[in-house]
Amino acid sequence: MATTTKGTVNRAVQYADPPSIKTIVAELPIETPGPGEVLVRMLYSGVCHTDYGFCTNSFGLPVPAPAGQVGGHEGIGEVIEQGPGVTSPEIGAKVGIKYAADACLNCVENCLVGGETSCSQTKISGYFTPGTFQQYLISSAKYVTPIPDGIDLAAAAPLMCGGVTVYAALKRSKTKHSDWVLVTGGGGGLGHLAIQFAKAIGARVIAVDHGSKESFCKGFGADAFVDFTKFSTDEDITAEVRRIAPSGVKTVIACATPTRSYNQCIGFLGFRGTLVCLGVPENDRTPIKGAEAFTLLSNELTIMSLKAGNRLEAKECLELVARGLVKTHYELRPMESISDIFKEMETGSINGRVVIDLR
Ligand SMILES: [Zn+2]
Ligand SMILES: [Zn+2]
Repeated sequence: MATTTKGTVNRAVQYADPPSIKTIVAELPIETPGPGEVLVRMLYSGVCHTDYGFCTNSFGLPVPAPAGQVGGHEGIGEVIEQGPGVTSPEIGAKVGIKYAADACLNCVENCLVGGETSCSQTKISGYFTPGTFQQYLISSAKYVTPIPDGIDLAAAAPLMCGGVTVYAALKRSKTKHSDWVLVTGGGGGLGHLAIQFAKAIGARVIAVDHGSKESFCKGFGADAFVDFTKFSTDEDITAEVRRIAPSGVKTVIACATPTRSYNQCIGFLGFRGTLVCLGVPENDRTPIKGAEAFTLLSNELTIMSLKAGNRLEAKECLELVARGLVKTHYELRPMESISDIFKEMETGSINGRVVIDLR
């Protein structure tokens, strides 16, 4: 296998002045991997809405990302150097970098039950740990995700956060064939992957998004599309969903971030339905409307959430993609375009995912 040679400088996208969306491409030194680490020559990185949230601190985190932060948390690269004691992954191996950059992998509370993204020792890529918007990245050797042969590497980048998250949402909600699944934000980075993973397991899908995304969502297999802009009240959109799925849906995969969207979700659910919260609302901590105990009890509803998937779910997600059952829709853009992409995220105009070319 031909391996990539190491350059002399690490070009990296830094947040110049958070909470503004200004970014710069800096030239940083290439670091040397320490014990247990590998140096990865990054090739592609997806741009996730959570990167926008870290840069602008729109999640209201107590400690905002600092100026100079290298963002990004879904990337693919090639191992080009091993630190002392590392034998795996091999030099030349293609690997994925996920939302969690590292975790202890041994705690009873989180890691050993597959919740490594919530481990107290988790480092988050692109938030106080340099992320995937750079050409050379130091990673814990034991925590990278091996990428199977034959996968389009640019298309694989968004799987490391968006793909594994929606796959894990369907798995943990025990969604099965013939269930109705409703995906809010169906035309977005997570949404278009959620539609396909749901179809891959045999479910029926209602995609909800702006009307401009109808053909995009249906092109990925959505059985029905609901244009949320056509309904002035939550009751009206619920009636439309109930017209399509008269008993309500089994699973709502909530990829859209607005509170208005979350407030409609409980009404979509049928008996023993599950709402999976994925999209992180910005500057808003309002409780979800309709989630009072009486309503939950009446229909035995479940509300759950997850912060990206774990290592097993990443492997399972990649396996479905390697079999051709799910395809990432992406547009390849240069490193200099991250601020523009953040601006486009504000208007919701992106179909699928934007992937940054780091080669
Ligand atoms: Zn993400
Ligand atoms: Zn742990």
